Amino acid sequence: MSTSALASVAVAGTSLPVAADAHASPMPVVQTHMVGAAKVTAISDGFLPIGPEALQGVDAETYAARLAEAHIKTEQHLTGVNAYLIETGDATVLVDAGTGTVMGPTLGALGASLAAMGTDPASITHLVATHLHPDHVGGVLVDGQNVFTGAELVVSGDDVAFWTNEEIAAGAPDGFKPFFELATGVVQSFGDRLREVSGEASIGAGLTAMPMPGHTPGHMGVMLESEGDQLLLWGDILHVPPVQLADPAVTIAFDADADAARATRASVLDMVATDGLAVAGAHISFPGIGYIEKAGSGYRWTAAPYPYG
Ligand SMILES: [Zn+2]
Repeated sequence: MSTSALASVAVAGTSLPVAADAHASPMPVVQTHMVGAAKVTAISDGFLPIGPEALQGVDAETYAARLAEAHIKTEQHLTGVNAYLIETGDATVLVDAGTGTVMGPTLGALGASLAAMGTDPASITHLVATHLHPDHVGGVLVDGQNVFTGAELVVSGDDVAFWTNEEIAAGAPDGFKPFFELATGVVQSFGDRLREVSGEASIGAGLTAMPMPGHTPGHMGVMLESEGDQLLLWGDILHVPPVQLADPAVTIAFDADADAARATRASVLDMVATDGLAVAGAHISFPGIGYIEKAGSGYRWTAAPYPYG
C-alpha cells in the first residue's frame, strides 16, 4: 500500500492529523519490567493526538476538563503507541508491531528501538497481534517485505476473517479501506506462518489469548503468567485514558462495534481493578504498565513503580 494512503484517516466525519510521506526520526525509548522469569520490554513507537471529535460520549468541555485534571498541558491528548517484547528464554514474543511508516513522523520508532536493544526482528519467534489495525501491525512490512522472517503471526481468526474480507472492505467507508489493504498484506506476508486463535487459547510461552471484542471483531488481550506473576497486555481497552477511565462509556470512532467495545471495557476494567491485576496498555502513557483502581463512578491509573534493580 502507499504510504500516503493513510495520510488522512477519515472516520465518521473526523480526520486525525496523520502526516503523509513522512518518516520518523525515532529515538529509542524502552523500559524493561520482570514478570516472574519473563523479561517484558515496553517499546514506544511514538504518539498521535486524539481530540474530542474522535470520541463519542464526551463533549469538548468535559474532554478538556479531564485532560486538565490529569495535568496534561496539550489541547489534544497525545496518545502513545506501545508494543511489548516478551523474552522467556524459549521464546521471543512481540505483542504488536507499531506503525512502521504508515502513520507519519510522530510514530514509527519501534524498529530503531529493536535495533538499539540489539534485537534482530528475524529472531522474534511470535508476533502476537492484539488486532489488525495499522498502529499494531504497520511495522511488519518494510518496503513491502516482512521483517519478522522467523515469526509466527498469532492473531484472532475473527480479525483475520473481517480484515481480509473483500466484500466488507468494498462496503467500508473510504477512510477505512486502507486498513483492510494493510491488514490483508500483513496477513498474507506470513504465508503459512499464521496461527489463528479463537476463544481463550494458549499461545505457548506462558501466554494466553483473551478475547476482548468490540474495538475490532477479534480484538484480544494477552495474559502473561510466569512463576505465579501475571501481566495482562490488553491492547486497545483504552485510547484516551484520562477521559475513558473517568467515563468508561466513552468510545472512539475506530471501534468496529462501539456497544461491544463499551461492554468489554466495562468488564475488563472491573476485573483488573477487583483482582489488582497488572496491565500493559498499547495506548497508555509510556511504558503503559500499571494498575487500575476504582475511583468514584470510574477508575484511576497508577503506573507501576520504576523497575530499579
Ligand atoms: Zn491501537
